[in-house]
Amino acid sequence: MKIFSNFDSGNIEVVSIADKDNIQLKIPNDNQSEFYQWFHFRLETQTEQAHTLNILDLKGSAYPEGWKGYDVVASYDREEWFRIPAEFDGDTLTFTVIPERPSIYFAYFAPYSYDRHLDLLHLAQSAHHCQLETLGQTLDGNDMSLLTFGEAEEGKKKIWLIARQHPGETMAEWFMEGFIQRLLDEDDTSARALLEKAVLYIVPNMNPDGAIRGHLRCNAKGVNLNREWQSPSMENSPEVFLVRERMLETGVDMFLDIHGDEAIPYNFVAGSEGIPSYDERLAGLEAAFKQALFVATPEFQDQHGYDKDEPGKANLTVGSNWVGEQFKCLSYTIEMPFKDNNEYPDPLYGWSPERSVKFGQDVLTATLAVTDKV
Ligand SMILES: [Zn+2]
Repeated sequence: MKIFSNFDSGNIEVVSIADKDNIQLKIPNDNQSEFYQWFHFRLETQTEQAHTLNILDLKGSAYPEGWKGYDVVASYDREEWFRIPAEFDGDTLTFTVIPERPSIYFAYFAPYSYDRHLDLLHLAQSAHHCQLETLGQTLDGNDMSLLTFGEAEEGKKKIWLIARQHPGETMAEWFMEGFIQRLLDEDDTSARALLEKAVLYIVPNMNPDGAIRGHLRCNAKGVNLNREWQSPSMENSPEVFLVRERMLETGVDMFLDIHGDEAIPYNFVAGSEGIPSYDERLAGLEAAFKQALFVATPEFQDQHGYDKDEPGKANLTVGSNWVGEQFKCLSYTIEMPFKDNNEYPDPLYGWSPERSVKFGQDVLTATLAVTDKV
């Protein structure tokens, strides 16, 4: 038996691999950080024999609640990522697999590779109405890439979408793939209508360093980008600094920040009800967007989610709160599950790349519905 993790977004530590009935693993921390939750590794072994894997020490992980009701994601071909039932005893996640092929990948969620990220950027820029631009470099020297759809003109709305501030939340870039596919489809009249009314500024991956390093939550220096929006710096958080600078140049009429939630098995949104500028207009825009999303897809619900912020008590270091306050605009964090959407569960795949793509496509419909109002 061998275990490998020396590849794009690989992350695991082998404690013991002597016994196939008790393979013991740990998840290394994000670099210079206390957070750990993302794993991604490959097991090479004999087929047709049961193997039991234990991931230890999860009580101290970023979201211990994330392991309750969680099933491991696995693949033989790195295309189809299916679920393997797992048990969590409060500290150890245990799952058993009988490999059908000698090499099998495991991950916290279906990975979104750096190569696929580059493919997405360049597929997009091959369209005449899309510009690819590198805003600057990350601490590891990777590109901070922005896609701009449409030309800025008087009267056009400026809509910004970003994803993967938390790099282990790969469903967020699968979502972006769906949203971007629609913007590239010339037979998609809703997308064409949206592009007549708005310029779309899209950052499909806010944290390429963390993504490549196999982090859950932080950049190369252990910084949680979604707590940097009030005072980012090129030293600690160039990702946020560069994107925020461009936002201050363009202005923002609507902002969506795409994430995954480890614990809550539903799709939901988190608004900016706690920012000082929150008023009836913003409340009305939030209600209109949610209503449009209900109509667009039953994958969205509004029963389960985060507790609402008290008036004026929002944390303005969080991206969607900072943007909402700075630009007095509709600003939502969108959360998808790592586990499944319990309203429409799928025992074989759980929440999946395919459903993330479709959800991203449906969010474009809801975006169009509110564009005239924002
Ligand atoms: Zn997140």
